[in-house]
Amino acid sequence: MSPDEKRAAEKRAGELLDQAERLGPGTHRLSDGTTAIVCGRGARTLRCSGCGQPGAGKLCDYPVVRMNGNAGTCDRPLCERCAISIGPGRDFCPPHHRYEQKRSGAVRDAGSHGGQSGS
Ligand SMILES: [Zn+2]
Ligand SMILES: [Zn+2]
Repeated sequence: MSPDEKRAAEKRAGELLDQAERLGPGTHRLSDGTTAIVCGRGARTLRCSGCGQPGAGKLCDYPVVRMNGNAGTCDRPLCERCAISIGPGRDFCPPHHRYEQKRSGAVRDAGSHGGQSGS
């Protein structure tokens, strides 16, 4: 390969790399503020939102209100290890499970007042 050819080939490779970098790893920002990783090869494999591993077979069922006001669920993809089962066919993502635990703790706290002593 002549030096000129080599330089041209290197330039082409650099351009391809540049393009790949600009496109990023297939990250798309959705309108509701969540980020979805789209696999470029057309595989329907979801990446777990907890550990980032492909093969998430569950979705978070935490009820949320979407930007457009409609009720929906969190729908974060979760793998078997990261999904926290809260009932038959219902799973929460770790952040929502934590949030729900905190919330139920706060509910138990409220209403237990009334021990005021006066004189
Ligand atoms: Zn996971
Ligand atoms: Zn969730």
